[in-house]
Amino acid sequence: MSIFVDVALPAAVRKQFTYHVPENLEPSVQAGQRVWIPFRNYYAIGVIVAVHQKKPSFRTKPIRKILDEEPILSKELLDVTRWISKFYYASWGETIQAALPAGLNFISRKYLNISEDLDDQNLSEDEKEIIEDLKDNKSTLDEAKKRWKGTGLNKVFSKLLKDRKIEIWEEPDLKVTVATEREWIWATGKDKRAAIEFLESEGVNEDLKWTSALAQIAEEIPVRQSEIPDDSVFTSYTLKKLQDEGWITYREVEKQNEIEHLEFEPDSIKTLNEGQQKAFEQIQSSLSKKEFSNYLLFGITGSGKTEVYIHALKQVIEQGKGGIVLVPEIALTPQTVSRFYRIFGDNIAMLHSRMSSRERLQAWQDLNSGKKKIAIGPRSAVFAPVQNLGIIILDEEHDSSYKQMDPAPRYHARETALVRAKMNDAIVIMGSATPSMQALNIAAKGKCELLELKKRHANAMLPEVKILDLKQYKGKPMRGEFAVPLYQAMEKAMENDEQIILLYNRRGYASYLQCEDCGHIPESPESSVSLTFHKRKNLLMDHYTGYSRRKDTECENCGSPNLKVQGSGTQNIEEQLEDLFPDAKVIRFDRDSTSRKGAHERILKEFGEGKADILIGTQLVAKGLDFPNVTVVGVVNADTELAFPSFQATERMYQLLSQVSGRSGRGDKPGTVFLQTRQPDNPALIFAKNHDHRGFAKQEMEFRKPLYYPPYSRLIKFELKSAKGHEVNMAAHALKDSAERVVPDVPVLGPSPAAIPWMNKKYIWEVTMKIDTQKGGSYIEALLDKILEVYEADIKGKFSSVRVNVNVDGIQ
Ligand code: ADP
Ligand code: ZN
Repeated sequence: MSIFVDVALPAAVRKQFTYHVPENLEPSVQAGQRVWIPFRNYYAIGVIVAVHQKKPSFRTKPIRKILDEEPILSKELLDVTRWISKFYYASWGETIQAALPAGLNFISRKYLNISEDLDDQNLSEDEKEIIEDLKDNKSTLDEAKKRWKGTGLNKVFSKLLKDRKIEIWEEPDLKVTVATEREWIWATGKDKRAAIEFLESEGVNEDLKWTSALAQIAEEIPVRQSEIPDDSVFTSYTLKKLQDEGWITYREVEKQNEIEHLEFEPDSIKTLNEGQQKAFEQIQSSLSKKEFSNYLLFGITGSGKTEVYIHALKQVIEQGKGGIVLVPEIALTPQTVSRFYRIFGDNIAMLHSRMSSRERLQAWQDLNSGKKKIAIGPRSAVFAPVQNLGIIILDEEHDSSYKQMDPAPRYHARETALVRAKMNDAIVIMGSATPSMQALNIAAKGKCELLELKKRHANAMLPEVKILDLKQYKGKPMRGEFAVPLYQAMEKAMENDEQIILLYNRRGYASYLQCEDCGHIPESPESSVSLTFHKRKNLLMDHYTGYSRRKDTECENCGSPNLKVQGSGTQNIEEQLEDLFPDAKVIRFDRDSTSRKGAHERILKEFGEGKADILIGTQLVAKGLDFPNVTVVGVVNADTELAFPSFQATERMYQLLSQVSGRSGRGDKPGTVFLQTRQPDNPALIFAKNHDHRGFAKQEMEFRKPLYYPPYSRLIKFELKSAKGHEVNMAAHALKDSAERVVPDVPVLGPSPAAIPWMNKKYIWEVTMKIDTQKGGSYIEALLDKILEVYEADIKGKFSSVRVNVNVDGIQ
């Protein structure tokens, strides 16, 4: 009886392909292996997702080669990826690809081989040259052709190919590349002494930048490119000049693993305080039962959630099992990560975006082989091949980075963690000081157990939060962007050698209108989201429903004509600080200042060591930092988030303010927080001021319920893209129409242009539908299949330029 396999390919097609297994391969074939298969007119790599004996009605082709001795995906991870592909409507293959490190990818290359029965004697000189070349260099077809370009050898090559003296051999590209970088070293014959002598005799010439660069590099060489700070005298210009002058040269060296740089002093596990102990005991009870359970650890900032995670994880490890710790973004949370390292050391495999593919493959293999038992990483670490999984911890559960937006699979790590834990009888701990509405809703329905930590550790106090109404501080009482009370608090903190964190919020594209007199931001009458201002069209738009109107000339709330366009252009706060506090040392922490590898860690380390007075940054500074000496936190512009065109804006702002406030007064000195706003009465601000997450959540839920917004419904967002504006517009209408016909009782919103309506030369439109949260993956899959089928039938091949992406839970 023949054996068949179903193979998933890393393409967007939501379908598997069936092949038969040649007899000689039958003994070794297993689900989870990669295979090399003929596909259309080429070969492709896929993953076997099922082995069976059901003969299909069509004639099958044979698989050509099995690429792995052992499956690279366990049955469990096959099941998890299968679930994702249904629930989030992605292809199984692309989901599998997202779950695997790049080193285990699906890509293939064409190589050149010399035919086995080649007779060297009968070759021409040119032919010999090619054969010798190929013997020396294993080449891909592309590489070889490039090498021979312009030499006339390509023609000879074509003949060799035709005569079958050379063969093209397609092979999976499983090679993992080594990431390298430049290391600057002395040129031959040059050294520090020579440089100093030269500089002493010639002098540092102000007009010749490279001479001062030489003076400095003499101290630092050898230096890696990644170690050169952004603001140093070493620019690409001075480095080139130093090279041209014959002082320095470089060699390519393998990039260093960031983690090896970090020093982790081992630490013993802390004794839990009373509140922590109570929470831990509950978790312990289900750990001993070895069955699935789900906890929401709702603990205020600084209450010691991390210690609870560590104790739970330790228990799991002692049971001989493994665990996954998910954090919003490794580079932003070095402090949290280091606390795990200090306890679990070598048992941890870190997975993160700035690692080279080789490092990631190594981490993956260490987990897969069971050599390491703990994976720490961002969203995608939810797929880590941890053996005998006992626990998944989601730190900062509310963080939006847990949802993948693009490309597919557009999964959420929280949902995935729950499904994976169920399959393994493992437990999940979702921790946050400001749990998401989703998590609170799960708890309210009794589907997870709520554990609360209501006090900061060691009686540290929550900071006092002061709301500064910028409408009251016009003109004189402002020092640049800072209202006087914030300015004075900063001054005082620095006198006392305490530190300051400043948040200036930046939302990139979203311009909005705000009344200077009452602080009002115009909202859509149709969806209660803020209207975005479009300068070119002079329109206020609701990207959610498609509503738009001409820019207001007076405030709809108070009638004032003083409407100001906000949110565009960032003031240079850093420069202002230099003027206001010339002696202060300021460090900036945002995407620009931290693009270099290791920069996050360096900046945070310096700040932690007290080498700077003020840390200023974007949303990044709100996440999980623990600096006991910080006593003042200032939010320069609290309103930006409110203007974001989403019904989630309030929640996001509240989250941000609560989280950033939580950075203040974590040590033995009490802290203060200043929120600068033009909407001092906004409930989200008041709740943040009062540290009242429950109150906030209650109000937010009451707002969402009658509107049937998540968590009461699930939003499925269709995103349509095309370079042709009219096609995408018509296609979006057709899609809405199809959805309404398939499910007449389900509300469908839109179509409307996206919040960013034009990007990468494509127009983007959206259609959103609200479905019942009880519906699972099979329902969603069938529903979307049906809608897209009706849509395809409707448009009859028109609008071929339009791509439709589906994003389940696209808005939370
Ligand atoms: P959270 O994650 O809830 O914001 P952390 O876990 O960062 O809080 O704890 C805040 C601070 O209190 C940290 O510096 C931590 O080391 C300290 N801490 C928490 N629990 C304990 C404990 N049981 N013993 C000693 N120190 C603790
Ligand atoms: Zn007004």
